[in-house]
This record gives sequence, C-alpha cells and structure tokens, in this order.
Amino acid sequence: MFRTPTQLKGSHTVRTAQRIANLPPYLFAEIDRKKEAKQAQGIDVISLGIGDPDTPTPDHIVDAMAQAIRNPKNHQYPSYVGSKPYRQAASKWMMDRFGVDVSPETETLALIGSKEGIAHLFLAFVDPGEYTLVPGCGYPVYHTGGILAGGLTHWMPMTEENGFLADFESTPADVLAKAKMMFLSYPNNPTSAIATPEYFDRAIAFAKEHDLLLIHDNAYSEIGYDGYKPPCLMERPGAKDVAIELFSCSKAYNMTGWRVAFAVGNAAAIKAFGTVKSNIDSGVFTAVQDAAIEALTGPQDSIVELNTMYQRRRDLVMEALGKIGLEATTPKATIYVWAKVPAGFTSASFAAKVLDEANVIVAPGSAYGPSGEGYIRISLTTPDDRLEEAIERIKNTL
Ligand SMILES: *Cc1c(COP(=O)(O)O)cnc(C)c1O
Repeated sequence: MFRTPTQLKGSHTVRTAQRIANLPPYLFAEIDRKKEAKQAQGIDVISLGIGDPDTPTPDHIVDAMAQAIRNPKNHQYPSYVGSKPYRQAASKWMMDRFGVDVSPETETLALIGSKEGIAHLFLAFVDPGEYTLVPGCGYPVYHTGGILAGGLTHWMPMTEENGFLADFESTPADVLAKAKMMFLSYPNNPTSAIATPEYFDRAIAFAKEHDLLLIHDNAYSEIGYDGYKPPCLMERPGAKDVAIELFSCSKAYNMTGWRVAFAVGNAAAIKAFGTVKSNIDSGVFTAVQDAAIEALTGPQDSIVELNTMYQRRRDLVMEALGKIGLEATTPKATIYVWAKVPAGFTSASFAAKVLDEANVIVAPGSAYGPSGEGYIRISLTTPDDRLEEAIERIKNTL
C-alpha cells in the first residue's frame, strides 16, 4: 500500500534496511568530528590517517586522458567487461610484470576500482548466512561488503608472531563448512606485511581442499622498497584453479580518483563476477580505460620515482619513531608504517591522544579488524616537511 501525502507530513521516519544497521560503527566518525572542530578553531591538523597518494597522476597518463575524452566513441556506454584494448593491456601487463598468462577474453575483467570489485564479489559468490574468511585486519570492505550481502565474516587471526600472515588453518570446521570465499592481501594494508611464495602455495592448497574461492587483493603490487618487488598470487602453480586476483591503477599510478582496476584469474569465477556487475554498473568510462592503457603499457619510470619518494618518507618516519620509542617494523612495501601503541593505550585511545594533544591524525589499527588492536597505521602519503612536523608534534606529546 502507498502512503497518502498526509501520512508523509510532519515527522517521518525513513525505514532503512537491516543491512545498514548491521554495519559496524564507523571508527573514524569521532576522529572526523574532532578534526572539523579543531579546523573550525583555526588549528592546523595534519592527517597521517588516509592512504591516498598526495602527488599527481603522471603527465603522460593525463595527456592520454585529455586525448581520449575528445573521442566521441568514448562518450557512449562502455563495455561491461572492459574494452578489448583495456583487457589486452591488462593481460600484457600481467605477462610483462609477472610472466603470468591470462586470457584477455575470459580471464580478465575491468573494475571501477578494486573497492567496487570487492563489494560485488559477495553478490556473485556468497549467499546469506555463508561465511567469508577475512584477514584479522584489512581493507574494511572485505567485512562490510559481506554484511551488505547478508554474509558472515570469520576473522583470520593476524599476529606479529605469524608475521601478520592471516591464519586460515585455524578456521573452525563448522565455519569452513559454510564458507565460500577467502580474502588475502599482500603487501598488506594496514600491517605492511609481505607474503612468502610458500604462504601463497598453502593458501591455494587450503582453498582447493575446502572448496573456497580465494581472492588476492594486490593493491600494492608496485609499491616496494629496498629493491623488493612484490609478487603476485597468479604466478603460483594452481592459482587459476581457485583464485581471482585484483590489481588497481590507484596506488601504482596515483590514480585513486580515476576509479580503474581489473580482476584476473579463474574463468568461471570471472564470468560469474561479470554477470553480477553487468546487472549493477555499466563499466568504466572508456576514456578512463584508455588512460589506464597508457598507465599499464607506457613508460613505468613513475613507479620508480614514487617508490623512491615513499622510501625516503619511510626512513624519515622510522628514524623518528625510533627516537620517540614507538616500536615498528621497517616496511618493505605499501604506503604505511604499522606501529605499536605504547603500554597502557588501546589503538583508539592512543590515536585520540595524538589528535587531542598533537593535532595529528593517525589511523587506529582496530578500525581494520580485531587483529589491529594495539597498533596505529601511519600513512606515507603526506609531503616530507608535513610528515616531519607531524612526528615532531607526536614526540612532544609523549
Ligand atoms: C586502496 C585499496 C583498495 C582500493 O583500491 P581502488 O582500486 O582505488 O578501489 C583496495 N584494497 C586495498 C588493500 C587498498 O589499500
């Protein structure tokens, strides 16, 4: 029955779906509120909380976009699965970068950023009441995407002792019986941990044994230091039998605002994934795909420059943390330093103290899942001088 206009008059409550109420509280809400209050008072707040590259997209990619946007063909609906040239570029990139052969036709799918992909994977593979194995701390959408789809999360423990390699082997049998999907992501956000080939092999074997679709989110595949070049899951034997891997232009090419990524892997899984997407979105703006082709197939020097810059910032932060007495392992990859909070603090209470007293925002580790408690994440996407000032301020509060 429709409501009459009079029924809508006065105070009206919008009835939202239960799935909204099921979402966890947004842990940055309090931080955002304090930040806005401080800024309203004219206080200079430095944010080390967000992982969003602060330097611009390389010129040659912007130039490709400027040209692509003038092509009228690009003004129409894009291909649902990604343009043929984009999928070919992604496939070629997989071969050039990792020596991995994926078919552009059946094993590659364009995404409107990997975040979109992660959220939609649940609709393709997880029915209400089924479990997804999720890293004990990780990209929040592994958890919230499941909730929105009516799924359940099993947090896989990540500890300093296990090198923050999510412990899938400890998953209880009753959970495994109802589990469909498992997420892993290395180099890892937020812990900066990196995986060994042996760990990937164990994960593939485990996914096979328990009939799980393994999703490897490789958002930081290009961000490595001290000569470290992150590996991919697809290069491990048997990966394509059970896995999909996500790659993104966001962190690699400073393209977070452009919304372009891709998935590769098991053809049947890619097909089901594409079926869900074709009923929800209409693909990536083709001009953006053209720009991403330039990113993937054009000169790769920008990655070296980016890594040099982040490595310098990493060293600066590590040295300062050492002086302050905050414990952290020097990251070999990603744009984050994962530091232990001092004794007597929780992630949230330490992040609050730093914001209240030093006017610096750091991300509480607990915002990324239960294994993140006891840590903070410091992002390296802030110019050197601001980063130095932020650390100096933190030092003065301790
Ligand atoms: C940044 C990030 C993403 C999101 O990437 P987009 O392609 O911009 O959506 C996904 N996963 C992890 C682990 C990230 O850190």
